[in-house]
Parts: sequence; structure tokens; C-alpha cells
Amino acid sequence: MPHDHHDDHAHSLLPPEPALRVKALETLLVRKGLVDPAAVDAIIDQYEHHIGPHIGASLIARAWNDPEFKKQLVNNTDGILAEMGFGGRQGEHIVVVENTPACHNLVVCTLCSCYPWPVLGVPPAWYKSDAYRSRAVSEPREVLSEFGIIIPQDQKIRVWDSTAEIRYLVLPMQPKASFGLDQADLVGWVSRNSMIGAGLP
Ligand code: FE
Repeated sequence: MPHDHHDDHAHSLLPPEPALRVKALETLLVRKGLVDPAAVDAIIDQYEHHIGPHIGASLIARAWNDPEFKKQLVNNTDGILAEMGFGGRQGEHIVVVENTPACHNLVVCTLCSCYPWPVLGVPPAWYKSDAYRSRAVSEPREVLSEFGIIIPQDQKIRVWDSTAEIRYLVLPMQPKASFGLDQADLVGWVSRNSMIGAGLP
């Protein structure tokens, strides 16, 4: 059919680079009046400059310092995040998993790149790689050693597979050296990778 032929032709003209493909798609959507370019820019600006791992880090630092807040963050994550204004897009349901001496948690999305955007921002490139997505499940200890973390043999590793419905945030163990610091100082100890489980504070 002529229509199909037209689509095939358009498809073969699409550039291979993801950025160009996105641009082509955006141009098309804007031209058809389906999206407002100012709205797209505002969303990109929001995730580039305002939403990022510093939000998750402030939650973790507060949880380390305030046992009552920690209990709420673990048991009523969605409620707490909504209350603090950190809900929304790509974070419909966030589950906090707490590292303990018995268990280290590691987060992956085996299917694509689901990630708790409202608290960590945009996922790092390695999180979306085929290698991480398959190996985090099949050989997590090996993968973590490549991130420079050696998990003791008596500490088990639990791997959490994110989905569009459920995103995970790791609550790392507070390093002994940081005990007694106040929340503002603790924030600097919480790295992005530690909240994915691919790092330690
Ligand atoms: Fe995904």
C-alpha cells in the first residue's frame, strides 16, 4: 500500500544517532501540534538542573540522622515523597530497600532503564547498558567488584528488578566515620551509585 511504502521510506531516512532520532520525533510532534516545544524544554531543564541525586542524598542523610524519619521513609515511601513534593513522573511507586550487614541491595532494570527519576534524576549511561542489565542479575558480586566494591561472602546480595510500576532506592548503611555528623554534612557522603547499590557511601 502507498501508505506503508511511505512509512518504510521515512524509517529508512531516520538517522542512527538517538539524539537525532529524538530531534526528528520532536520536530514531527511539534509540527503536528501534539507537543509544545516550550513544555519539552521546561521538562528537560527540570531533569538537567533541578531533579537529581542530591534529592535522594538528602533523604538518605535525614534517614541516617532521624530514626523516626527513616522508619517512615522505608514503610511509607510514597506518602513521605508526596508530602515532600518529590512524586510524579517516572516515580509512581518507589520502594526503599535498606542495606544491612546481612544483605546488600542492588537495583537494575533488566527490561530497559526504569529508575526512580524524582529522587535520582536521569539514569547514568551504564545503568542502561546491555552488560549491566544482564550481568547485575547473573553475577552481581562480580559486577560490584568492577565498581570497586567487595561484598563479603557472608553478606548476601539481593537484586531488585525495576519496572514501570515499581522503582527502587537503596538506603545504604551509614559509614562509621560519619557518625555524629549533622544532616547537611551527611548529604555529601551519599553518592548516586550508593543509592543504586553500585557503590558505597
Ligand atoms: Fe525499564
